[in-house]
Amino acid sequence: MSVPTASGPAHSATGSHATDTATRDHTPAAANGAPAVDLGPAAALSCRECGERFPLTPAFACTSCFGPLEIAYDLPLGDPEALRRRIESGPASIWRYAPLLPVPADVAEKPNLNPGWTQLIKADRLAAELGVTGGLYLKDDSGNPTHSFKDRVVANAVEAARAFGFTTLSCSSTGNLAGAVGAAAARAGLRSCVFIPHDLEQGKVVMASVYGGDVVGIEGTYDEVNRFCSELIGDPAGEGWGFVNVNLRPYYAEGSKTLAYEICEQLGWRLPDQLVVPIASGSQLTKIDKGLKELIATGLVEDRPYRIFGAQATGCSPVAQAYKAGHDVVRPVRPDTIAKSLAIGNPADGPYVLDIARRTGGAVEDVSDEQVVDAIKLLARTEGVFAETAGGVTLGVTRKLIESGALDPALTTVVLNTGDGLKTLDAVAPTTGPSAIIRPNLDSFREAGLAS
Ligand SMILES: *Cc1c(COP(=O)(O)O)cnc(C)c1O
Ligand SMILES: [Zn+2]
Repeated sequence: MSVPTASGPAHSATGSHATDTATRDHTPAAANGAPAVDLGPAAALSCRECGERFPLTPAFACTSCFGPLEIAYDLPLGDPEALRRRIESGPASIWRYAPLLPVPADVAEKPNLNPGWTQLIKADRLAAELGVTGGLYLKDDSGNPTHSFKDRVVANAVEAARAFGFTTLSCSSTGNLAGAVGAAAARAGLRSCVFIPHDLEQGKVVMASVYGGDVVGIEGTYDEVNRFCSELIGDPAGEGWGFVNVNLRPYYAEGSKTLAYEICEQLGWRLPDQLVVPIASGSQLTKIDKGLKELIATGLVEDRPYRIFGAQATGCSPVAQAYKAGHDVVRPVRPDTIAKSLAIGNPADGPYVLDIARRTGGAVEDVSDEQVVDAIKLLARTEGVFAETAGGVTLGVTRKLIESGALDPALTTVVLNTGDGLKTLDAVAPTTGPSAIIRPNLDSFREAGLAS
């Protein structure tokens, strides 16, 4: 991948001015001996474009090339059996993987929401309906503490916020992140102030507000909310603020690796053949790939090919459009879809997603809002899982990929449900409801035609 472009990673989430300022404000000693922080096996920040390494600080863009930074590790190589035993005897949360995350070893003892270790459901009835014969699994992240996968990433960001001495936890959010930050801050005893587009679903706004932190609705799209946050980071008004998905983004993003770890451990320490993953900024998808590669590198799973497929809603499908057009860069769009949790028009990790889909033999596909609703109801009817719109996008795309032949039904396939349908009731409300309204007597019931 070459130098990032205007729609590429370096500028989309940050803006170069804000990047410079943030780095200056929070990393005065970065170049020559930043204060040592204990973030477990995390060794340094490294640039995804040029590979330059930096100390562990709240920086998120390379000072040489503006490329995005990610965590480099001293991974526990050498004794996979010992590592496996250590993980298996760990807590039933993401912290069982602490040896592979940027967190201190005693992380599970600190006040936090202990997310993760969610169900991997063998979805046999859904598989029969879709014609999948190689084994179909649903990784159901609606079971997290605030009912979306965002608890995984926020829990990692909280450890970085503690290490760097931030007192306010913040974020720009498409909905789920705001609730996850509010709850995590409440548990950790931090102040929170989160920023959301003002027109989100009621369920998301209530979830964001109930934990007692400040919630600010902004008259604009998520991309405008995100740009505003970058400005705030460079301003004294944002002093001491850790934005989980901006200046703490390298730490935050690592939380998504735990999805890959859990899926493989739950399959009996085995890589699935195919994964279907939703795309908002694309961070989750890229870190699932990173997590799978780490499992191979540490010898926890046998190395064999896997394919990663990306899912978007047609009304916000900049990565899918770029994939289909054969482009390496992602042209920003203005979102218009019911899948608001995925409505990022200028996805920071878009180019990396394209790279992973192509390298692994996957694809990026999109489905209409109507297909999203159909997929939500299909999953509920076959497996008893009520997904939010993002889950509908992912399952809808899975179905489309099977029909087109891009996804091989004879291979082991894992589909992610990243959120809970109770937060997006409006999506299905118009096409659900009671089968009948009757008077409380048997005649009335028989007349309704529902008797056996
Ligand atoms: C945030 C989110 C995602 C994915 O986000 P990325 O920015 O691509 O990491 C997926 N599903 C739901 C429900 C989300 O809230
Ligand atoms: Zn660089």
